[in-house]
Amino acid sequence: MTIDTKMDLDNDTYKTLLESTRAIPWKIDWDTMQFAYIGPQIEELLGWEPSSWVSVQDWADRMHPEDRDWAVNFCVAQSKAGVDHEADYRALNKNGDYVWIRDVVHVVRKEDGDVDSLIGFMFDISERKRTEEQLAALRRELEELSFKDGLTGVANRRRFDVVMETEWNNACRNKQPVSVLMLDIDCFKQYNDHYGHLEGDQCLKRVAKLLTLAASRPRDFVARFGGEEFIVVMPDTNETEAYKIASRCRELIANEHIPHTGSDVSKYLTASIGLSTAMPDCGDEALPFIEQTDRRMYQAKQRGRNTVVND
Ligand code: GH3
Ligand code: MG
Ligand code: MG
Repeated sequence: MTIDTKMDLDNDTYKTLLESTRAIPWKIDWDTMQFAYIGPQIEELLGWEPSSWVSVQDWADRMHPEDRDWAVNFCVAQSKAGVDHEADYRALNKNGDYVWIRDVVHVVRKEDGDVDSLIGFMFDISERKRTEEQLAALRRELEELSFKDGLTGVANRRRFDVVMETEWNNACRNKQPVSVLMLDIDCFKQYNDHYGHLEGDQCLKRVAKLLTLAASRPRDFVARFGGEEFIVVMPDTNETEAYKIASRCRELIANEHIPHTGSDVSKYLTASIGLSTAMPDCGDEALPFIEQTDRRMYQAKQRGRNTVVND
């Protein structure tokens, strides 16, 4: 058997081919802006009979209001310019639901170059859109997880690095103070030894929660720095205000009365805090400021623990 490469197919064969694809063919006359043809598959997809697709207005009316303006304007502009194009939009079905459609459009020109008609195919892309949306949601979740401490739910060290840099630059630019406190739980090794590591984990969760209560202004930021150390960034906060917040952190933990029999300091869980405030000039680095805060936290340990050191 030989295949006729000239593809001399009769009209019926063309029609059968067009109407048996999953893509829905259509044609619009440019002069009248009326549908010259739409494949019967449209009824299966959207529920509207082919005869109800009369003018371009019917096409626009059966589009999601949020997609209508841009899709119609885009397709009209591309068609006027004689450019083949494609557009994704949500089409209304007869039940009142929407179906994601990709419309692929070819502009047919007359011999003189004017637009004669538009022909195209509509593809049902709802499945692909659903997958895309699921992927986007997963990506958002992953991003959130990668910035969150898995145990306590507060921000992690990585997030702290980003926030610290942003707030440091804000403070430089706006000539505002920025304060940071570093907190380390006292005698936590003994806590784990006495109550077990799992109980230790619960304790870290409680401390994280208390810190978010103590530093609760919208821009205050609490992160787990590592192990049993936490860090709080307090933008636009001077020394006096920061000292109050740091003391509140220390008191909330001590007043929580979490039993800690192995502690050298108290019969309850306590924490030591180093605190610094800076008025950075542009070009100053944040790192020495954080190192100073860390040294003050160790000072607090040396001065007997369960205290705030800010000098
Ligand atoms: P100090 O008062 O000097 O801070 O004494 P410390 O025992 O708290 O000091 P150190 O920093 O040496 O010990 C911290 C302990 O915190 C050791 C480690 O087992 C424990 N730790 C770190 N991360 C976790 C964690 O995720 N869960 C639990 N349960 N314990 C942790
Ligand atoms: Mg420590
Ligand atoms: Mg400790």
